[in-house]
Amino acid sequence: MSFRAALDAVVSVLLPAPCRMCGATLTDANRIPICASCFGSIEPIVDPMCSCCGRPFELAPEVEKAPELCRLCRANFYAFERARSFAYYNDALAGAIVLLKYEEVTRLGHWFAERLAEVIRKAGEEFQADAVVPVPTGPIAERTLEVSTWRLRDQARGAS
Ligand SMILES: [Zn+2]
Ligand SMILES: [Zn+2]
Repeated sequence: MSFRAALDAVVSVLLPAPCRMCGATLTDANRIPICASCFGSIEPIVDPMCSCCGRPFELAPEVEKAPELCRLCRANFYAFERARSFAYYNDALAGAIVLLKYEEVTRLGHWFAERLAEVIRKAGEEFQADAVVPVPTGPIAERTLEVSTWRLRDQARGAS
């Protein structure tokens, strides 16, 4: 047994804690209170996707090549040049966002920032930005702006 595995076992016995999303007992010393199963239910968006907005394409089997732009981007619907999301907005992702925003599991901010930094690193030159600014995640309020700022600060650090 590795030292880490031994430490996890000791911590899970001495300080048993439930996953904050599903209630399962956590079996490792992860400082984010979400179990591996719930993390695994967060589904990253992968190619093919719209090169502008990042919306994933679901291609019929007979379609060999995805179009470059989705219908909305072909119609210049958005006022931005490029956007990407890390994952599909499913129940698991929504639950993690609620923990970050409303239950102040701030370590999730770092986790999300790392995921976004990976997305930006993968995109390479396409995402060279002149500036990084916080974007409120809902009605403008100090709290939501603060959450956005954490993410962007960590993202900028992770991507540099
Ligand atoms: Zn869980
Ligand atoms: Zn698009």
